Amino acid sequence: MTVEASPLYQQMRRSFAACHGIPVCAIGEDDVVFVALGHHPPKQALQAFNVEARRLGWADMLDAVGAHDGALGKIERAYAVVRDRCDEALEDDHDPDCSECAEIREASWWLDWDEAADTPGAFPVTIGRS
Ligand SMILES: [Zn+2]
Repeated sequence: MTVEASPLYQQMRRSFAACHGIPVCAIGEDDVVFVALGHHPPKQALQAFNVEARRLGWADMLDAVGAHDGALGKIERAYAVVRDRCDEALEDDHDPDCSECAEIREASWWLDWDEAADTPGAFPVTIGRS
């Protein structure tokens, strides 16, 4: 089964909205990170992130104060995995009350985007930090 066909990926995918044809999701509350599925040229990713930012009511989040070049510099290509439990969940000494697992369960899916390209289950993403 491909990563994209997994139920967890599908569940995550439903949180992404198409912006200029690019699936985008804003993650986090204070330090919002924009995630696009796939690797995209920085300018196209930034345009898609701004569509999503405006849809959420945050005017020009990434290119605020005219710092367009600065915003482009905050666009990165990365590899992500989607999780429904923490890294240690399958280990014998995993705490059944693990706070990280509890946080992940509450969010229903969790994206880690600092993975190596050859990590099992990893898929390409484009990241924009606000
Ligand atoms: Zn855990």
